[in-house]
Amino acid sequence: METKQFKAESKRLLEMMIHSIYTHKEIFLRELISNASDAIDKLYFKSLTDDKVGLSKDDFAIWIKSDPEKKTLTITDNGIGMTEEELENNLGTIANSGSFKFKNENKLEEDNQIIGQFGVGFYSAFMVAKKVTVISKAYGSDKAYKWESEGIDGYTISEADKQSTGTEIILEMLDDTEDENYSEFLEQYRIKALVKKYSDYIRFPIKMEMTHSRPKEQSEEDKAANKPLEYEDYIEIETLNSMVPLWKKNKSELKEEDYKHFYTEKFYDYNEPLKYSHISNEMPAYNALLYIPSKAPFDYYSREYEKGLQLYSNGVLIMDKCADLLPDYFSFVKGLVDSEDLSLNISREMLQHDRQLKAISKSIEKTISSELKKMLKNDRESYEKFWEAFGLQLKYGVYSDYGMHKDKLQELIMFTSSKEKKLVTLDEYVTGMSEEQKYIYYATGESIARIEQLPQSELIRDKGYEILYLTDSVDEFAVKALHQYKDKEFRSVSADDLGIETDDKKEELKAKEEENSDLLKELSEALSGKVAKVVLSQRLRSHPVCLTSEGDISLEMEKVLNSLPNTEKIQAQRVLEINPEHEIFGKLQSISGDKDKLGKYAKLLYDQALLIEGLSIEDPVEFSNLICELM
Ligand code: ADP
Repeated sequence: METKQFKAESKRLLEMMIHSIYTHKEIFLRELISNASDAIDKLYFKSLTDDKVGLSKDDFAIWIKSDPEKKTLTITDNGIGMTEEELENNLGTIANSGSFKFKNENKLEEDNQIIGQFGVGFYSAFMVAKKVTVISKAYGSDKAYKWESEGIDGYTISEADKQSTGTEIILEMLDDTEDENYSEFLEQYRIKALVKKYSDYIRFPIKMEMTHSRPKEQSEEDKAANKPLEYEDYIEIETLNSMVPLWKKNKSELKEEDYKHFYTEKFYDYNEPLKYSHISNEMPAYNALLYIPSKAPFDYYSREYEKGLQLYSNGVLIMDKCADLLPDYFSFVKGLVDSEDLSLNISREMLQHDRQLKAISKSIEKTISSELKKMLKNDRESYEKFWEAFGLQLKYGVYSDYGMHKDKLQELIMFTSSKEKKLVTLDEYVTGMSEEQKYIYYATGESIARIEQLPQSELIRDKGYEILYLTDSVDEFAVKALHQYKDKEFRSVSADDLGIETDDKKEELKAKEEENSDLLKELSEALSGKVAKVVLSQRLRSHPVCLTSEGDISLEMEKVLNSLPNTEKIQAQRVLEINPEHEIFGKLQSISGDKDKLGKYAKLLYDQALLIEGLSIEDPVEFSNLICELM
């Protein structure tokens, strides 16, 4: 019999498959099942209009048979089959070979990428088999043919004996080596698991004879004698796949439990999801099931966490975690997407450029965003739970990528507010603003209790204005990235200009500063290197001093930035504010000129301000000595 050579390109691809270091060799089964399913699809389609096919929907099936002794795995379908010519053309050449271009020749390191990148389908069988035999009988033909190949050397085609229409693929598995275990693909439970994993939703049943064991019936005598049970094997035909994907079912057929059960099973979460949504979209065409977990996974805020949705192409899983489907700020969403318009063998690299996928990902993002808004509007309790779990991620989203996504996220953001110590949205804050209030005020600190004690906010509180409490380290960065909401600028309670003071008041303070310019200068000098300047405060009511900052970096940001590893130490431009209405100011005035005494007072006041701000003082011993001395 004549041995035919593979076409040049196919040969190279084959070579790669045979020497493959591809880590997911198991995908060969998915590829063969998917081919079988396509072939059945074609014949099924014909059967709808052609009585001669003689099969109805329930007759179509894919069979898997494993023979561990002979080390063969057989995949059989009763699909459309292949003629001699088709065997030659389809299996001797790579499908779509026109689009197949090798970038690197004979380079093993590139294999994985190439395997992932192109529709290698059938050839993947050579990753696990030393010999592949395809016996096929095409629909409408009375002859069957056998295609055989042991790899690179070529293939033969001969006539064969096969009664029914369809294709049978026999893999003679490679021998196990130290590194590779091929016989595992002959184990029934492994096969079952692979079908479940990759091909669960293939529309036709994938059947296999499963061998189970059961106790033999015992005679009364044996029972009475308490003889141990004997076991016997029996064979049962099982359908390994569930066939109808949940997401393709009609929403009206499904109950809340179905969705929830599916989630906990599929995504290994003990907790029920907080929200789910079932989407059937038309432009672009896809079905999706999206879930918001009720709690953040333990590794969510770490580098280990991998975002992504499962990606299916018409019921066949092509990627477990397709990251391109989710923006980082929605990385908490779990679920899957199924589209008929995606090619089965598409790699990560290719996906990024896939137009269809981009359109789907955009549509998904919109859906998530509108679902969250809906939840915020209609189910506040759930939204606050969501916020507790994933709010941090949204705030990261606001300031990441130089604030590029802030417009999309600003309506979803919440902070605790001073009014009722409850979470409010920016919209709620702005709606509650009085007419003369110019800014959205915020205060930062490590806890709400801490912020409430800050002297800086006295004036704003006096006015009855609401203050947003920023307690997460990312908060102030997010607020800075937002800059404003509905034309209202954000303003820190420590800001220089709070937009509250009247011009008269400002003038008054300026005059006072001029009157006391010598004193302020002496204080500045005493604290040189510690603060950028010492000023009279207009925001303080009862407290003698507070510490604020000028410039872009606030004291809170200084704390955050300096806590990051490997960054240069940063210092905010500190400003010591003194309350001119406070008794202590009179005292300072009275000792102006006494450099030694004033120096001590200045240090004490500065240390006090540091402590109130939650910063540590530089020299606690000196602080304590000074207090004793003055007492
Ligand atoms: P692809 O499936 O991406 O086209 P493959 O290399 O997997 O590439 O298969 C090449 C072709 O061989 C298929 O397009 C199909 O025409 C044919 N083929 C493969 N398996 C079968 C089968 N089980 N029944 C009928 N035709 C098949």
